[in-house]
Amino acid sequence: MTTQNEHADVLIIGGGPGGYTAAIRSAQLGLDTVLVERAELGGVCLNWGCIPTKALLHGADTLRSITQAGRLGFTTGELGIDLSALVRYSRDVADRLSQGVAGLMRKNGVRVIAGEAALTGKGEVSVTPVAGKASEVSAADQTFTADHVIVATGARPRALPGIVPDRERIWTSAEALIPTDVPEHLLIVGSGAIGSEFASLYRDLGARVTIVELADQNLPVEDPEVSAVVRRSFERRGIEVHTGSHLEQVESTADVVTAVLVSGDGSRTEVRADRLLIAAGVQPNTEGLGLEPLGCELTDRGHFIAVDEWGRTNVAGLYAIGDVAGPPCLAHKAAHEGVATVEHLAGVRSAQPVDRDWIPGATYTHPEVASLGMTEPQARAAGHELNVGHMPFVANGRAIGIDDTEGFVKVIYDAASGELLGAHLVGPNVTELLPGFSVLRALEGTAEDLEHVVFAHPTLSETMHEATLDALGIPLNQ
Ligand code: FAD
Repeated sequence: MTTQNEHADVLIIGGGPGGYTAAIRSAQLGLDTVLVERAELGGVCLNWGCIPTKALLHGADTLRSITQAGRLGFTTGELGIDLSALVRYSRDVADRLSQGVAGLMRKNGVRVIAGEAALTGKGEVSVTPVAGKASEVSAADQTFTADHVIVATGARPRALPGIVPDRERIWTSAEALIPTDVPEHLLIVGSGAIGSEFASLYRDLGARVTIVELADQNLPVEDPEVSAVVRRSFERRGIEVHTGSHLEQVESTADVVTAVLVSGDGSRTEVRADRLLIAAGVQPNTEGLGLEPLGCELTDRGHFIAVDEWGRTNVAGLYAIGDVAGPPCLAHKAAHEGVATVEHLAGVRSAQPVDRDWIPGATYTHPEVASLGMTEPQARAAGHELNVGHMPFVANGRAIGIDDTEGFVKVIYDAASGELLGAHLVGPNVTELLPGFSVLRALEGTAEDLEHVVFAHPTLSETMHEATLDALGIPLNQ
């Protein structure tokens, strides 16, 4: 196999939301851009994360709507699920979006190379073709020199000591996205966004679900009031939630997974399940990239690539963005970091770094969760005096009309300045409401500014207004 040598202004390793967005912006800025991807364009998010999970959860939501249709006077017969059709739907959605990324690369003139990339020196990258992947340039080994190299290699499920995923009985999220049957009992380790979404999904599909969470709170990064609503809702639906707990002695045979559930009080209970899903966070894809010989620094916590606000590593010309550059590990954070890094290296004067403290979070459980900024305990610990307001969906006309009144909107303002410190939502379509608070924050608006905004009636978004009125001590509709 011959080796070809080429040059690029910007070479990006990894075609997920971070890498492909960086590539688009780079090409738009007139830079000769190469994107190397060893698997599928779109990365984890489009192929094995955000998108296919939401397609499956859409199936679960549809099922729930049909099940509850009797309250509206509809007569429904016995319901069945063709699981393979639901999985096919989810895979089709993922494929469509991945192909969309390929189209965007062509449209913007990004050279896409299919292969595994590794740094061989400062500004030097070798690419080894991956079997079965078609390169737009050539199937030969290639070496590149580049003025700027951006590492956007993402992350993978975090391994837990003593629990080895075998893809049959012990799953990672990838296997949970393509089930051939609904397990009778699914045991989930981790109650973050991913673990909780799968718990919600599989419960709706008919599985018995048990969640084991090491932290004292399910959805550990969320405001405690929000986590409590989700926990109560899950428990009402029959999902068992064990916080402050962990698993020991995990064993899997052809038919069953057994483990010992160790609770916070030290009690030990044997659990048996059909499948065990590991959803205990992620670890960065840094191995085999040639970072060590270059002296590229990793963080103490989690061994992510250490970067500054522009994604610069300690090695000149080497950048990292997205999951591999540290939490929060979310697609929109990766994409925005991609743009910020490229605009910075290209010298765009309006470039803005990404503020990781203000990355919104969205969890598509039933009920949905959306959050921005500090939780109430964090805001108090930071020394702020607070104006906190709530508006429950049970007092909102639109929520009552659509028969979905669980949850609330909670807002946290700084009492002195009126500045938004945090917004925590749980309930119907809250992931679509949250960006309103992101806009308020970006425009440096205050509680008083929001007070005078006219929200259309009847909308779920009126809860954002009412929660703010509540924070100001002038509630109208509760
Ligand atoms: P990735 O998407 O991981 O992409 C990295 C790419 O780099 C991959 O395609 C990989 O093949 C490639 N690569 C790695 N090493 C090399 C190499 N040496 N050479 C060439 N290519 C390489 N986030 C949200 O914001 N919202 C959600 O709802 C959400 N849901 C999720 C659900 C699940 C089940 C999972 C697992 C994740 C979810 N996430 C969600 C997280 C989201 O998927 C990630 O934050 C996002 O994909 C990170 O983007 P990235 O570009 O940093 O990396």
